[in-house]
Amino acid sequence: MKFRDRFANWMSGRNGMDELARFESGLVLVLLIISLFSRLGLLYIVALAVMIHMYYRMFSRNVSKRYEENQKFLNLRYNSTVEWNKKKKHFAQRKTYCFFKCPQCKQEVRVPRGHGKICITCPRCRTEFIKRT
Ligand SMILES: [Zn+2]
Repeated sequence: MKFRDRFANWMSGRNGMDELARFESGLVLVLLIISLFSRLGLLYIVALAVMIHMYYRMFSRNVSKRYEENQKFLNLRYNSTVEWNKKKKHFAQRKTYCFFKCPQCKQEVRVPRGHGKICITCPRCRTEFIKRT
């Protein structure tokens, strides 16, 4: 048997490469490069730890548990992308709009700047609150 076939055989029933593993392999690369240039020994150790974790997950036979971890990672990544896009939007509009959170339902409310103290009505729960714009 060729090595590739033997490896494929050995890998069957194991988790293999998933999104989290792909992310971790990228992270390891970045950490190693930074540690190379910055001489931060700690980063090297962290990179090593991430690599061990990545291989542990790839070769793990507990596929359902690994699947769960991967889903959590995907959720986290999705949420941070949403959060990041929101921050980007706020930054782009910071001169024309103020952003407030409704004290009741945490709904985000956008109001134009430069109107002094105003009473804002939450579009979702109709709570009124006063803010300076
Ligand atoms: Zn509200």
